[in-house]
Amino acid sequence: SMRGTLAATAADSGRDGWLIPLGLPTVQPITAWLDDAGLRRRVSEASLGRGATSGHDNTPIVLEMVRLRAERARLLGLGSHAEHVLAVETAGTPEAARGLLLDVVDAAVTNARNEAKDLLGGEERELHPADWAWESERLRAERFRVDDATVRPYFELERVLHDGVMHAASELYGLRFAERTDLAGYLPDVRVIEVFDDERSEPDAGVGLLLLDYYARPTKRGGAWMSSFRDQSRLLDSSPVVVNVMNLARPAAGQPTLLTMDEVTTMFHEFGHALHGLLSDVEYPVFSGTSVPRDFVEFPSQVNEMWARRPEMLARYARHVETGEPIGEELVERMREAERFGEGQATVEYLAAALIDLEWHSLTPEEAEAVTDVDEFEARVLADAGLDVPGIEPRYRSRYFQHIFAGGYSAAYYSYFWAEVLDADAAEWFVERGGLKRDSGDRMRREVLSRGGAIDFLDAYRRMRGSEPNTTALLRRRGLDSSVVGGRRAAATGRP
Ligand SMILES: [Zn+2]
Repeated sequence: SMRGTLAATAADSGRDGWLIPLGLPTVQPITAWLDDAGLRRRVSEASLGRGATSGHDNTPIVLEMVRLRAERARLLGLGSHAEHVLAVETAGTPEAARGLLLDVVDAAVTNARNEAKDLLGGEERELHPADWAWESERLRAERFRVDDATVRPYFELERVLHDGVMHAASELYGLRFAERTDLAGYLPDVRVIEVFDDERSEPDAGVGLLLLDYYARPTKRGGAWMSSFRDQSRLLDSSPVVVNVMNLARPAAGQPTLLTMDEVTTMFHEFGHALHGLLSDVEYPVFSGTSVPRDFVEFPSQVNEMWARRPEMLARYARHVETGEPIGEELVERMREAERFGEGQATVEYLAAALIDLEWHSLTPEEAEAVTDVDEFEARVLADAGLDVPGIEPRYRSRYFQHIFAGGYSAAYYSYFWAEVLDADAAEWFVERGGLKRDSGDRMRREVLSRGGAIDFLDAYRRMRGSEPNTTALLRRRGLDSSVVGGRRAAATGRP
């Protein structure tokens, strides 16, 4: 089927044979499936060479943007662009963000090196960046035997939605969900759900509306997201209308929609954003729902993903579409191990990109002026941080780092990790308190979900959690904690 897709891609651009389009990150997923080592290298070199070829060289643009951003920060009386950006983020300062990233370097690098050894099966050579995905795929298939055909029958869309996603929200926050077939969405496919809250003084008055737009169509942007049509605010007496969008393949007529574990996780994730919008209880629309800093906005959504994997939840919603049998613990365990395998490499490539971003944007105008070689700058950043691991390239090299040079994430690529520290830490807190418990949900709702952007986020987190966030929970989750003794309190750097 992949050959068919690549042939169609070639035909679309008027060529013969197969055409391999490049995806955003450095590692191209297709390299996992290319058995020809020479072809893997061609793809990998094309990926790494983006924005560096004659006629399409982004080098001068990168250097100029870095200089201009440094200059603007100086004009505003700040030390660097990163200082400017971080001032309104939860992290507060570039030092705090850098401290968080550097805190996990040792554990990530140790694990990545062990993974490389594992992949090479004791051979004494270095793994080529082009081969990492391919070797991983071989090992994963052989060791964990997890494939979509085995897993998908346990994840039927309606069951996942009602007995999974909505059930968790009901237990935690006392919400009820009613499909409003009398209301039309913006397309016939789009479902409209009214959300009710048992605790409200008028329980029959809905909290808001949630639209579900789950199926792919040719004109739809790729990926999954939540967005808001109307924000909650007391000032304007307005209740929220939000949407969860995904790109699921539509099944043949009359067939159920079966999901991969990734898609299930994404459904819980987007629902977490939806809850942030729906449970908002603020005066001013500017602070409503998900109007929070970038390094906090992913916290409610990421923490909601935890319910997809809790044993009590799986037993409830992950049932075979034909037999109704709950998914076996042994299969769940294999899925978990397969996910963890490769976290060392994934963490290293992420940290590398996040630090390159922070360092570019921590330069003063004079320092920025002095940098003329992008490759040299990147190499120095990675060597200084101890992230120069053979075989692992940064998730993005500067010349094709869209997030920071063409998107809104300059000096903020660290924020995914920041939110994950909070999310992993909060997930442990939920588990310590017995899992799906209403009083935990009430606390999360009172301190975080209802408050939108009208709070100090770390204070809110502390009030919910009862202590400082700690990076060890994240290391444990990523399976990176074996090499860490004790783990450091995140607060050692001032902030998590
Ligand atoms: Zn998200």
